Amino acid sequence: MAGFPIKYATRIKTLPPYLFAAIDEMKQKAIARGVDIINLGIGDPDLPTPKPIIDALSRAAADPKNHQYPSYEGMLSFRKAVADWYRRRFNVTLDPASEVLTLIGSKEGIGHIPLAFVDRGDVVLVPSPGYPVYPVATSFAGGKAHLMPLTKKTGFLPDLKAIPARVAKKARLMFLNSPNNPTSVVMSKDYFQQAIAFAQKYKIIVCHDAAYSEIFYDGRRPASFLEVEGAKEVGIEFHSLSKTYNMTGWRIGFAVGNKQVLNGLLKIKSNLDSGCFQAVQEAGIAALQLDESVTDGLRKIYQERRDVLVPGLKQLGLEVDAPPAAFYVWVKVPKGYKSASFTAHLLEKAGIVTTPGNGFGAPGEGYVRMTVCTTKERLAEAVERIKKAGW
Ligand SMILES: *Cc1c(COP(=O)(O)O)cnc(C)c1O
Repeated sequence: MAGFPIKYATRIKTLPPYLFAAIDEMKQKAIARGVDIINLGIGDPDLPTPKPIIDALSRAAADPKNHQYPSYEGMLSFRKAVADWYRRRFNVTLDPASEVLTLIGSKEGIGHIPLAFVDRGDVVLVPSPGYPVYPVATSFAGGKAHLMPLTKKTGFLPDLKAIPARVAKKARLMFLNSPNNPTSVVMSKDYFQQAIAFAQKYKIIVCHDAAYSEIFYDGRRPASFLEVEGAKEVGIEFHSLSKTYNMTGWRIGFAVGNKQVLNGLLKIKSNLDSGCFQAVQEAGIAALQLDESVTDGLRKIYQERRDVLVPGLKQLGLEVDAPPAAFYVWVKVPKGYKSASFTAHLLEKAGIVTTPGNGFGAPGEGYVRMTVCTTKERLAEAVERIKKAGW
């Protein structure tokens, strides 16, 4: 029987081109040639999940009461553990029943929230370079992403004054992300305050993505958006156990803050998914109750790695700042290169995989992103290889 031409929906056909495809192909070819690749492209912790979390999962997985559908909004015990953690970590008070929502990873919540608040033609303010889910989820919901460029000139913070009033008036959501992927820049409480005033003025819901709040250096803890007065009136904060506890594969996160906003997200979720496996939520409780020494230990490892990679790159003459948080290093490409050509150069001549900055949005052109999700020894070798390769 003859087939018929399979036609994709416009929302799929208009997805931005997959900029990493070319890099992937080059990487596969290099591996086939026997090149010992150093992968500084992945934003995924290389260390294992702490044992108490795994033990909690094992116990909970064996209990038949966890084998049925979980509740849509998440177990109250998990949401209580989140509220306790927020009080300990940020001195923020949350009502577990109405101000905390369990997510199947924070990407799930970020991807779904535009469906709850964005109508066709509405605007969503999106930092760029940034996490690609913000603009794609916007477009899936029929909205239009207005990019807020993160440039050296504005300290890699969105310039709220540069957003035209006619755009702001049509905006329903604003995504913010601190500590930032891919620049690693941290927003101050003062900046959050400005964002809240802007959101109040134009009636925009703020969605702050705090996935990296616990990966910080030199003892300087990033603030929660919810620490700032008025935050709960205008928005929510997305959070994840993925990066904090090396749990990217487990799929658990949460959203906290404005209860009406969370309710909108829950309405969408309850029609699309059936909640997060209870055994994983039990493991999440164990994670959130871990002694601070566990996360201190992880931060120490990342900081040691950062302190190998960044001074090494600087010594070679590359323009790069030591990140105050997150596991990303945002490197300016040398003169004569673009993001794509420098990425290709590092792969071909040094066997190092990096991510081209423009893959996170056009304003990321001129940069590559490196991660410290590999050992100090490998990072030192990466620096040596770049030195040998030159540019
Ligand atoms: C990794 C990441 C997330 C989400 O991770 P989940 O595993 O879905 O919780 C969210 N935002 C940013 C910016 C990230 O880098």
